[in-house]
Amino acid sequence: MRTYSWTQVPMPSMAAGERTNTFDEVALGYSYQLAKEEAERCLQCKHPACEEGCPNHNPIRDFIRLVREDRILEAAELDLLQNAIPSCTGRVCAWEKQCEGACPMTIKGDNIKIGAIERFISDHALAHMDELHLERWPRPSRAQKVAVVGAGPAGMAVGHFLSRDGYDVTIFDSWIMPGGVMAYGIPEYVLPNEVILREANRLTRQGVKFEMGVTVGKDITLADLKKQGYEAIFIGIGANKATMSAVPGEDLKGVITAKDFLMRVTADVMNQYPSRQKPDTIDVGQRVIVVGAGNTAMDAARSAIRLGAREVKIVYRRTESESPSRPIEIHHAKDEGVEFEYLVNPVRFVGDETGRVTHVELQRMRLGAPDKSGRPRPEPIPGSEFLMPIDTAILAIGYSPERDLTDKVEGLQLDKWGSVVVNPETGATSIEGMFAGGDVVTGANTVVHAVAAGRKSAGAIRRYLEERARALA
Ligand SMILES: Cc1cc2nc3c(=O)[nH]c(=O)nc-3n(C[C@H](O)[C@H](O)[C@H](O)COP(=O)(O)OP(=O)(O)OC[C@H]3O[C@@H](n4cnc5c(N)ncnc54)[C@H](O)[C@@H]3O)c2cc1C
Repeated sequence: MRTYSWTQVPMPSMAAGERTNTFDEVALGYSYQLAKEEAERCLQCKHPACEEGCPNHNPIRDFIRLVREDRILEAAELDLLQNAIPSCTGRVCAWEKQCEGACPMTIKGDNIKIGAIERFISDHALAHMDELHLERWPRPSRAQKVAVVGAGPAGMAVGHFLSRDGYDVTIFDSWIMPGGVMAYGIPEYVLPNEVILREANRLTRQGVKFEMGVTVGKDITLADLKKQGYEAIFIGIGANKATMSAVPGEDLKGVITAKDFLMRVTADVMNQYPSRQKPDTIDVGQRVIVVGAGNTAMDAARSAIRLGAREVKIVYRRTESESPSRPIEIHHAKDEGVEFEYLVNPVRFVGDETGRVTHVELQRMRLGAPDKSGRPRPEPIPGSEFLMPIDTAILAIGYSPERDLTDKVEGLQLDKWGSVVVNPETGATSIEGMFAGGDVVTGANTVVHAVAAGRKSAGAIRRYLEERARALA
């Protein structure tokens, strides 16, 4: 009779004291031995709840079984049948709320560390790419061309699945490297750009072409793409328009959106590659507040610490229980010295005569009845306002889709937030041959949801192109 350990094999990580001067990756990943030891704990459930809990329904039970049998590359190949960028999801998913949260081991002990195992097998596969049996995958060569706008996780997933079906896929993106927000938003110490580039290289080997530095709608139009023979188009441009706080003083110097801040930090860290020491090009001063408590807020706060700020405070109008961030990010932020001030909301930023922010006025809140999201609604407490001195305020409040491209597409149905309206089963938009998925459809969401949307759309695009080829034959 097999005996199972109820205790998780911990993943090694850099000590908190060593991290704050470098942008090196914090979580260090399992070794072969540790991955195998953790895989041995898996119950191999008949009906794997973890796979149900995963928004992309990755074949978790079976890849863990293959790890137990020392068949690491096969485990990775199996995962790649369902997941387009496993070394990324293996680093950034909210496992606690998804696959790992559904693991029945939690009834008596610790869940299986699925994310860490997925990270191990996919990193192993990327390090041994020549041994991956890419040629085993069915790849009938199909002449039909597909254009993908946006090289984020949704676009990369479309590229992955359609190239495996043999289609000629080109991904266009305004940014200099693939990955979307994973590349320019999520910091190096959570998801190194090197990892994303390795996944992109694998896609290139599968036949996907990347056209970086090309803004569709400006450098080339969708009509041009059609004229160039692209028979289907996928829109995966994300939701990258930062929401402002709408409180007086947000235009002062020193008040910045998290997106602008993180993009700047990423660019500066990339510029001094291979060194990952703190760049000395951005001065956030000593006292920084970050408004919001999602993943973006944690990343901004942890980056401000790495830039040398002495006091970094997350201010959030609800409490930690309602925070949308991944628990591991909150844990790392606390370890690194980020402070949290809950149940407060900025009502005004105050500046000096040079137009630079010096203080934020905060108002205390209390939780009321649940709102539409089901979370308790924060309500202001009259007369509770107080001033806090600051050098920089970073706004990490929310994102909506940019409309520069989509507004110009005649007949494309958008909702009131500018999200593209699609058939949820196929990603088909109101225009024939045009599909969309990821954050541009759902609003700001997660990497694995974008991958799942890309996978679904790739299937629908394949069916669409097959029908079209039959009709034209
Ligand atoms: C700071 C931050 C931290 C996050 N942390 C996590 C996390 O820990 N875990 C997690 O799961 N999720 C996290 N997310 C969310 C996650 O990154 C997104 O949900 C995901 O990247 C969305 O994927 P997407 O492909 O829909 O769009 P995006 O990743 O936004 O990619 C869209 C791409 O389209 C390109 N583009 C836009 N317009 C055009 C155009 N007209 N022409 C050409 N290209 C264009 C953009 O340059 C971009 O590269 C985080 C988000 C942020 C901002």
